[in-house]
Amino acid sequence: MGKTGASLSDFAALISPAAAELMEPMARRAHALTQQRFGKVIRLFAPLYLSNECINNCKYCGFSRDNPILRVTLSVDEVLREAAALNGQGFRNILLVAGEHPKFVSGTYLKDCVAALHSEWPSISLEVGPMETEDYRPIVQAGAEGLVVYQETYERKIYDDMHTAGPKKNFDWRVETAERAYVAGFRRLGIGALYGLADWRYEALCVAAHADYLLRKCWKAYVTISLPRLRPCAGEFQPLTHMTDRDLAQLVCAFRLMFPDVGLVLSTREQAKLRDGLIPLGITLMSAGSHTEPGGYTGAGKENTHYTERGRIVELGASEWAPANGHVTNATGQFDIADERSPQEVAEIIRKLGYEPVWKDWDAALTT
Ligand code: SF4
Repeated sequence: MGKTGASLSDFAALISPAAAELMEPMARRAHALTQQRFGKVIRLFAPLYLSNECINNCKYCGFSRDNPILRVTLSVDEVLREAAALNGQGFRNILLVAGEHPKFVSGTYLKDCVAALHSEWPSISLEVGPMETEDYRPIVQAGAEGLVVYQETYERKIYDDMHTAGPKKNFDWRVETAERAYVAGFRRLGIGALYGLADWRYEALCVAAHADYLLRKCWKAYVTISLPRLRPCAGEFQPLTHMTDRDLAQLVCAFRLMFPDVGLVLSTREQAKLRDGLIPLGITLMSAGSHTEPGGYTGAGKENTHYTERGRIVELGASEWAPANGHVTNATGQFDIADERSPQEVAEIIRKLGYEPVWKDWDAALTT
């Protein structure tokens, strides 16, 4: 897997304001490269939120410890219920997502979830709190093949400001996560920045440098880059910087031109129309029909939600924030999604654009 031979300074030029004037030729080249390397396919995946418990305070995230929200951690049986609903929609590629909470979301719990899903799910990835290499190994052995960890921001000062409490404050521990995951045996490594914190061009350059490093250091891995922009969430954090739709399109082209074989991931954070427009520029993986709350697909776990204020469980009805007693509802989501189309509707649009939606993209059996 490689890059074009383009350097980071070439990449800086591709994302510059001057290059924004050259979007048409950039888009044509990015489109041709993507077709050459990936064919006319878009791979679909779904996030499955296991838990919204979290011991970190990240100012931009709805799951932040201090946010007064409804929380739950699904049991393994409830995870299977959620997964069955996604399976019924056609998905075979799943991303297990959870906040960072060693008590509720332990390594053993994650391993048990993966083991329970493994027979039905050829592709399982995780987006969870960073762990030690040794703690990843049983999860890989249970059947997980991908690990996603966003640095959020590569700007250390802003990183420090955004992460006010919890182990996530440690920038270096987080930035080294993909390498630990690779050593433990993960074969898909997902990275990215959360656009809306530092200047987008600075973040993109750091993501490119990180991807370049991983492609050389973790050369057997398949690297993906996600391009999430901040969305409204509990806590009502306002973005610190702005990235326009056009900037995002330019960035998709720039990543493709720099890294022809890297997977580019687009989530339901973006509006339907923009998502459709970005497909021909280099996107290879999309989520669809997503819910960002545990139990979002079936209502699983809603009898067990509890309310927390500043990290402490409070009785329902005990404060102006806490819902009244007897109020049974889903846990709170991480952020609001923007593309609310069903997976089938998204698949249909992908076909209309001349691409094949692919639900299953990897099978352990093929490598043995
Ligand atoms: S971004 Fe992750 S670590 Fe931070 S509060 Fe949200 S779930 Fe927790």
